[in-house]
Amino acid sequence: MQLVILGSGQDAGVPQIGCYCGNCVKSREDKAYQRLGPSIALITSNKKTCYIIDASPDLKVQVDIVNKLMLKELPAKSVPITGIFLTHAHFGHLAGLWSLGKECIDIKGITVHCTHKLNHFLNSQHPFKHMTEQGNIKPTPFEIGVLQEFNGFSISSFEVPHRNEFADTVGYIIHATKTVVYLPDIDDWTEEILTIIEEADIALIDATFYTKAELPRMSNVKHPPMIETMERLKDSTTEIYFTHFNHTNKTLDETSKERKETLEKGFKLAFDGQIIEI
Ligand SMILES: [Zn+2]
Ligand SMILES: [Zn+2]
Ligand SMILES: [Zn+2]
Repeated sequence: MQLVILGSGQDAGVPQIGCYCGNCVKSREDKAYQRLGPSIALITSNKKTCYIIDASPDLKVQVDIVNKLMLKELPAKSVPITGIFLTHAHFGHLAGLWSLGKECIDIKGITVHCTHKLNHFLNSQHPFKHMTEQGNIKPTPFEIGVLQEFNGFSISSFEVPHRNEFADTVGYIIHATKTVVYLPDIDDWTEEILTIIEEADIALIDATFYTKAELPRMSNVKHPPMIETMERLKDSTTEIYFTHFNHTNKTLDETSKERKETLEKGFKLAFDGQIIEI
């Protein structure tokens, strides 16, 4: 099956609203530098089933990417998403659900796989509560760590330390021909999670910041910087892709020494529209 990077940006994508830093200016001039909000698609080999992980604020554009990969002739209305898995309740990871509701396509019955705490959030907080009542989304809780079987792949989750203001946070382990970890947000590495990454064939992991110095308010926004992550995983044989880039991350600039150093160390940088056979 195919894993498609629908968005490799941090929650707000690149460019960020009202920002004129080097990366944001460049991304406005050249669309190849743009990064949509964090999301991936899992498309089965027969191209009939597509699940996505996280519903970013850019879901409208990301559905176009999926449609191009799945269908030759588009019907008048088409959202080819069989189901959605959510990692956590931060807005950049679920705001796209809104575009399935009554003000938009008014789709019915999309299953949203999530933890029990996130299920409670979706059933109790506007606008998700309203969307659940209207039948647009169908939150379906799972037990963290329990393997779920789907057509063509199976998936399980693991708990992740992250700012959990509204619910909890998980990463996912996808089992297809290859084993893939998807982990866009984490506050601090734990030995347990590093082992999960090292045991996988492929891992897509948090690349919010390259160094701790790049965001003055970073003490409130914890993410392990890429330089620390690369040091911790330097002996890993897993194929590691960085994703969830903040606009401040210097590896976004193709001419930067940070990008060169990352690639020389054997790590990969995900980009929007990238297809990984799994
Ligand atoms: Zn995020
Ligand atoms: Zn910027
Ligand atoms: Zn988050």
